[in-house]
Amino acid sequence: MAAIPVPALLITNLPDVRYLSGFTGSNAALAITRRAARLFTDGRYTTQAAEEVKAAGLGVKVEIASGPASVAAIQWLAAQLGEQAAADKTTILQVGFDATHTTVAEVDRWREALPSKLRRKLLTPTASLVEPLRHLKDEDELAVMRQAAALGDELFSHILTIIQPGIPETAIAAELEYQARMRGAEGMSFETIVASGVRSALPHGRATQTPLPRRGFLTMDFGVILNGYCSDMTRTVYLGKPSIAERNVYEAVLAAQESAVAAVRAGVTCGEVDEAARSILRDVQLADWFTHSTGHGVGIEIHEGPRIAANQAEKLAPGMVITIEPGVYFPGDFGIRIEDMVAVTRTGGEVLTHSPKALIEL
Ligand code: ZN
Ligand code: ZN
Repeated sequence: MAAIPVPALLITNLPDVRYLSGFTGSNAALAITRRAARLFTDGRYTTQAAEEVKAAGLGVKVEIASGPASVAAIQWLAAQLGEQAAADKTTILQVGFDATHTTVAEVDRWREALPSKLRRKLLTPTASLVEPLRHLKDEDELAVMRQAAALGDELFSHILTIIQPGIPETAIAAELEYQARMRGAEGMSFETIVASGVRSALPHGRATQTPLPRRGFLTMDFGVILNGYCSDMTRTVYLGKPSIAERNVYEAVLAAQESAVAAVRAGVTCGEVDEAARSILRDVQLADWFTHSTGHGVGIEIHEGPRIAANQAEKLAPGMVITIEPGVYFPGDFGIRIEDMVAVTRTGGEVLTHSPKALIEL
């Protein structure tokens, strides 16, 4: 709070609320001044909010609001700042809110709830100030993310025993999701991607009723949420025997993936990591079919910063957890993607995904 230009913040983006308070419910607003932090939620969460906020041990107080939580929060902040301003003349009456995650309608509602003299100037849109903090995982968070990635590995080795021609893609997705829940996941971090045969050329092919072919690639991209943190991994396997051309493309994607993983280190730019993958594919004339970025940050949300994409000047820092997931897609023919989670360390990268990457034939 000392480092930002506003004396108070209203946090309504739920992943940010969770990060700062420990509260996991679906309705909350967190009000922060330089002296205090207060979480506003509703009566459904009286017990849960008290328990979770206490367990997080971050000194946040809980208040159950009778109306909308964010309105109660902004009114509390206005009162706090009013008191402070009365006590010391330097306090400016401003509350920062996250412009990225706030609707125009919400701002109107907050304004209407304020005393008329505060309506015009109190609310100050800012960039997201919390998400960048979330990019840097501490040891406890890394431990949870290792577990989430390990559960992904378990699910992959299990699904290899299920895959066979004729089974619909949705059955593969269902088995992954059922087993994830049976093994303790709170949910999946995104809609499971199972894309077989020609559908593997769709980078985000959600599972359909299409039966798995006798021969062809099968891409599975999935993740679990474990203790609030997301995992994300992709493996592409082959049903039957691949042609030499298919195998060559697989080997190129794998080489690109490993090259980018090897490039991960604190201080390297995200663009350099992307280029480490892209240049390998360029060398074998496949770069035109690598149609997305190399990866993304992952944590409380499945897609966070930093973006691992071409020309990104942002530098990797210790504690970031990113994905490395180059892919090559030939529309109407086939596609391949391989994705690991990697934690950035001072000297390199700790790969959190341990499933085998050599082409598996089933
Ligand atoms: Zn993925
Ligand atoms: Zn991903």
